[in-house]
Amino acid sequence: MPGRTVGIVGGGQLGRMLAMAAARLGFHTIILEPEEKCPAAQVAGSQITAAYDDPDALDTLAVLSDVITYEFENVPVESARTLAHKKPVYPPPQALEVSQDRLTEKQFLRDCGIKTADFIAVDSQQEIDDALAKMGGKGVLKTRRLGYDGKGQKLFDQPGQSSAHAFSELGAVPLILESLVPFVAEISVIAARGADGQVVSYDPAQNHHSGGILRRSVVPADVPRQSVEEARAAAGSILKKLDYVGVVGVEFFVNQDGGILANELAPRVHNSGHWTEAACVVSQFEQHIRAMCGLSLAACTRHSDCVMENLIGDDVDRLPELLKQPDTVVHLYGKAEVRPGRKMGHFTRLKN
Ligand code: AMP
Repeated sequence: MPGRTVGIVGGGQLGRMLAMAAARLGFHTIILEPEEKCPAAQVAGSQITAAYDDPDALDTLAVLSDVITYEFENVPVESARTLAHKKPVYPPPQALEVSQDRLTEKQFLRDCGIKTADFIAVDSQQEIDDALAKMGGKGVLKTRRLGYDGKGQKLFDQPGQSSAHAFSELGAVPLILESLVPFVAEISVIAARGADGQVVSYDPAQNHHSGGILRRSVVPADVPRQSVEEARAAAGSILKKLDYVGVVGVEFFVNQDGGILANELAPRVHNSGHWTEAACVVSQFEQHIRAMCGLSLAACTRHSDCVMENLIGDDVDRLPELLKQPDTVVHLYGKAEVRPGRKMGHFTRLKN
């Protein structure tokens, strides 16, 4: 109940927005993050400044928190399990385990009855060459672990494109080769499951990436009704299979015929759901806090069409202009240093 403390592992912008949502519902928050004055700690009650796998820090977090969550999927699974022995951790650590390895993730999605791109695990240059040949010379080669925002990926989309040195270029680590999906749209579903098993989901957003980074999410997505229904149902199956509590983000490719293929799942609030803070009665952040604290979930009612855009690197200089625009909600993350490719904030423009 309000007055209790929510622990958050990770101190980035997602932790920041979760902490703000928790505060609005009357909860205290505590952040575990090695970086001093991180975005989340600026708005939280306190910070434990230590590594995510520091045993003493984990112990302190467990003692001081009533319930614990995490804001990025590369939290060490062992840390989440250690915490879960002492206090409730949501989403369940198994969700981290599934999503941290693209191979496990794809196999899990298929176990849920959800279609994905074809894939082959590859662990050497020879295996890459053989797998590419099997896929007709086209595909997307990805590191199985620790890839984000298009990092750790190599695209093969030209006939006869050489794959020489691809294994060493990606760090000589376990990889997965995925078939190149000729999608017409990318969408994502933000869904939540409560402690009582209730599942709710927001309208899917249509996502536009460049350079592997999400630039823009448009709601509603311009895809057939059937794709929307299938994506929502798929997100629901994932939540049920994991006995999940909290918010999940699931990304899909939509093909020409409206069929969908799941690309990846994030066991946390998601960048493509930031629009919910401006265009919905209750945001994905509050929905997550409600779920993990055993409170009633809200309806995912959307009152406006909208476009959310990320402010990446120097984009943040647009602030004065954006603040003059009517129907625009701006959100900055409190990051002191502007770096190319760094997400500095976002804004959502309401369209009606
Ligand atoms: P990911 O890190 O898996 O989200 O990939 C980043 C972006 O690369 C996706 O949003 C797509 O635009 C593109 N992409 C990833 N995998 C594939 C694929 N198998 N086929 C076509 N495009 C892909």
